[in-house]
Amino acid sequence: MTDRTVLFTANAGFFVSAGDISLAVDAFPRVADRGFSALSEDHFQQLCQRSDLADIRYVIATHDHEDHYSKRWNQQFLNCHPQARFIGAVEDERAPKPSVPPHDSLLIGASQAEAPILLRSDRPTYYLPGITFEFLRLPHEGAQFADVTNYGCLVTFTGPTPCRILFVGDAKPADPTIAEWIGGRHIDLALLNFPWIALPKGRRFIEEYLPNTKIGLIHLPYEADDRNHYVTAARKATEQLNIHAITLFTEFGQELLF
Ligand SMILES: [Zn+2]
Ligand SMILES: [Zn+2]
Repeated sequence: MTDRTVLFTANAGFFVSAGDISLAVDAFPRVADRGFSALSEDHFQQLCQRSDLADIRYVIATHDHEDHYSKRWNQQFLNCHPQARFIGAVEDERAPKPSVPPHDSLLIGASQAEAPILLRSDRPTYYLPGITFEFLRLPHEGAQFADVTNYGCLVTFTGPTPCRILFVGDAKPADPTIAEWIGGRHIDLALLNFPWIALPKGRRFIEEYLPNTKIGLIHLPYEADDRNHYVTAARKATEQLNIHAITLFTEFGQELLF
């Protein structure tokens, strides 16, 4: 991948690169929710072997739902990429213990380079070489998932290719907490679930708080699996926001330069 690239895997999963730092977010969904798509075994193996993903630094899980996170594949990917560090709200992935203890804000030195970071507090922030992660615990969409721990993150690449991206896991679309958290800062790219575009409140939020941000729509099925016509609906909705650069992620391996 070149500078400032997103590579889509399946459902809400992607890799993002800026300069020499790459990370994976919810990249290995092994099980699909009804009407969505999972990653195939074959595609997972392709991702493990891609040479341009060889120096991946971080593997992030926003929450422990099977359409975002597979313990088995997560572990397999980390075993193939021992330099990568796991950050997530799920249990410890690799043997090295103790993991980095929960902190609200932490500057991490080289000695802790590979210890997994397990997200626990409400707003954990990590300052790492070339990158800052500002996590925020956000309620999961849907009353039945109210007790699921879900994190969004503002990722600021601070190296030679500075930029900022936003992702929010399965947070409620247009949650006002997110606007407060962004605090008027410029975001180059936001990766958001498709209801952010399909629902009027999501579109209003984008117009008001993300006016100059490129939008990548995720949590969409592959075109071939789109029996509920989510892709069609999302495409129609994007036409109502034509001032925006919006990309629908609907194919394995789809890339976007941002
Ligand atoms: Zn979920
Ligand atoms: Zn989900």
